[in-house]
Amino acid sequence: MKIAFIGLGNMGGPMAANLLKAGFEVQVFDLLSENVERLTAQGATSADTAAKAAEGAEVVVSMLPAGRHVKSLYLEDEAMLNALKPGTLVIDSSTIDAQTARTLAAELTTKGIDFIDAPVSGGVAGAQTGTLTFIVGGEQAQFEKASPVLSAMGKNIFHAGGHGAGQVAKICNNMLLAVLMAGTSEALRMGINNGLDATVLSQIMQQSSGANWTLDKYNPCPGVMENVPASNGYQGGFLVDLMRKDLGLALDTAIQSNSPTPMGSLAQSLYSLHSLKGNGSKDFSSIFTMFEQIEKD
Ligand code: NAD
Repeated sequence: MKIAFIGLGNMGGPMAANLLKAGFEVQVFDLLSENVERLTAQGATSADTAAKAAEGAEVVVSMLPAGRHVKSLYLEDEAMLNALKPGTLVIDSSTIDAQTARTLAAELTTKGIDFIDAPVSGGVAGAQTGTLTFIVGGEQAQFEKASPVLSAMGKNIFHAGGHGAGQVAKICNNMLLAVLMAGTSEALRMGINNGLDATVLSQIMQQSSGANWTLDKYNPCPGVMENVPASNGYQGGFLVDLMRKDLGLALDTAIQSNSPTPMGSLAQSLYSLHSLKGNGSKDFSSIFTMFEQIEKD
């Protein structure tokens, strides 16, 4: 099966690599040539444009930063629309707003193209090891059609509901993640300020009622865990500005559905402040350093 993969960044790069490992023929496109070269070195073929990558592909996967990039790709790029043939399955794994996902599904359906929103959880490590969680919004038949492709990149594949449902579930999850990362960071800082060793405190909380994913897999304090962004100058991983985007989507969703989200609002303010202080391109666990900075200011 021929798959086109558009967007080869921190997540898309390793996801496309796993499709190659699973034996799919993969045609790739990204605006950054170094990201494309990383994939061609692993056996992918490259194309000059997204539309050319999609030519002849039965499945198109996109992993782009935000809704505007996805909308522009599938609704405004004339060449892309011509390249997508009836029966093609479009899998968008970017985290975008649910309404854009529903609009894309409706527009592409009129051309006989299947669309699912399939945002992911599991971070760069999950993308590299092929253990991502996929959260799918779409029809049952579309979910089943996508499953062999998603299984090559992920371990848990959930069908959340109709179009847009994958994005709603993903936004709920990321709002919670932001709250947990900020809460874990302030707890670690308080422990350190009271003479505790961050590694020992992390081990205690991991086995206690404060245990959570950030302590288990993504400790924000440098030196506590190997192979996480905190121990690598907060490089790579999931950018502060992408978390800020997701929190914006969460608050929009909260307003539209009259849902009270005081913790999510606070996390959104913290991440915005952190970004405005020049940290937008660092990994989101760098929020830990903001607490340190506040103490110094
Ligand atoms: P990234 O910034 O590392 O990668 C995005 C890639 O898209 C870049 O390589 C960029 O050059 C490319 N791109 C942008 N516009 C393009 C266009 N028009 N055509 C082709 N390529 C284009 O971002 P990422 O961390 O890989 O995240 C991608 C998506 O996945 C985002 O929506 C993010 O919210 C979501 N996500 C990220 C993580 C994570 O841990 N990084 C986890 C879950 C979900």
